[in-house]
Amino acid sequence: MISRRELFPHVIEMNHQARQRLGCSVYLIYDEADWLLIDIGYEDTAEEIVDLIRQMNFALSSCRYLICTHADVDHIQGMKRAQELLPSAKLLGHPECKLHLAGPDRIITFAEIAAQGISIDLPAIEVQQTIEEGDVLSLGSLKIDVWTTPGHTPGQLAFKFGKLLFAGDNLFRDGSVGNIDAHHGSDIASFITSLERIRDADVEWLLPSHGPVFRKEPQMVQKTINRLKEYQHMADFGTCAVDWPLLDEWEEELARGTMPE
Ligand SMILES: [Zn+2]
Repeated sequence: MISRRELFPHVIEMNHQARQRLGCSVYLIYDEADWLLIDIGYEDTAEEIVDLIRQMNFALSSCRYLICTHADVDHIQGMKRAQELLPSAKLLGHPECKLHLAGPDRIITFAEIAAQGISIDLPAIEVQQTIEEGDVLSLGSLKIDVWTTPGHTPGQLAFKFGKLLFAGDNLFRDGSVGNIDAHHGSDIASFITSLERIRDADVEWLLPSHGPVFRKEPQMVQKTINRLKEYQHMADFGTCAVDWPLLDEWEEELARGTMPE
């Protein structure tokens, strides 16, 4: 038996519990005997994670939910294995996540990035119940609000539990955000709206899907928002931009016959 290293009451994070990096953040929330997991990471660590949970004296038969924050391979590849190990749990995800995992869609999930030689096995995974904005998850006596926070991907979920926000890939401690990629359905305008919501929410702590948990500082969130606002008018993220003022300037300069300065 090993002791539980709670980050906050009712909340354990499995990398923190193991005192080593296993992969993406895997949050365990529990009340009395009931527990759930937010994400699981890659398949090759799923068994190790479930074993750690068993050693912390949680009954595997008391796992109520396995939850996907979104359909990215590094968050959910191990879900099929987790379902086998935890048959009492219901697998939850956004409708978009359900759609992409059923196939599965190898581009949207980042399982296949041909230009970088990345090709990762991803089994078809069945999301058994869809959840989205406004839903409330019950776990024992706990209530967890489901937020849909599009930007990184249209179906990105976050979960508010009191003053904690399980933030998915919305924002990390260094101010970076989840990959902005047209092939992933990223949308910078929606991303900004999601970050503004997080900035203004009654939330003290952000529990991201990668890296350490951190205190929410509105100025820090704003700095990230400002950066994304600039991206909307620059070429950095290609078709994710809303416009490119440089080309308007160029058009005027071409008409005037302006020479390089
Ligand atoms: Zn991620």
